[in-house]
Amino acid sequence: MSTQEVFMSDDNQTIINCPSCGAKNTTTAQRCGSCGGPMEELKPIHSEARERQRRYQQDGFSVLWALIAMAVQVVLTGAVVVALPQAAGVLDFEGYYGMSLTIPVWFTGGFLVGLISPGKTFIEPVVAALIVAFPTVFYLYNGIFSTFGHGQTVRTMPWFMYAIMAAIGVMFTLIGAYAGERIQLGPQTATSD
Ligand SMILES: [Zn+2]
Repeated sequence: MSTQEVFMSDDNQTIINCPSCGAKNTTTAQRCGSCGGPMEELKPIHSEARERQRRYQQDGFSVLWALIAMAVQVVLTGAVVVALPQAAGVLDFEGYYGMSLTIPVWFTGGFLVGLISPGKTFIEPVVAALIVAFPTVFYLYNGIFSTFGHGQTVRTMPWFMYAIMAAIGVMFTLIGAYAGERIQLGPQTATSD
């Protein structure tokens, strides 16, 4: 039994050629036995951190999914921030309240796009939320030139607060997209892609 173990371990030592002179060396050798050159180049680089990073890296920007994400964010934002307060007068999401609503709305938008889209889709919903953010801030701050929507009347805050809250909302879009992708990938693909 012990002799077989020794034989097995000997068999596992693979012979590789030196990158400098071509002399035969074992994989366990740090330096070439013939020329003394480093053997490290030929050892396989096993980087789990790089693999994990790749998993959440997007392959490319999809215009189609950017448009779908746009549609999702416009519909959700329009429904919650514009239509809902118009339909129910009690719900007056002006100013601060309107802006704070964009955070869960855009998060949901990112989540939905992440969940339904094939592959990794993070950038598209974020870009969509960023584009939607501008008219949303304008609408909640001003109304549309005081003809549609009332803008901020009671719950006022300075313009830069709108920008900060919009940035938080866009950030939450990314978190939502990640959450959607995670659910889509499932627990069994946690170790392999
Ligand atoms: Zn060598």
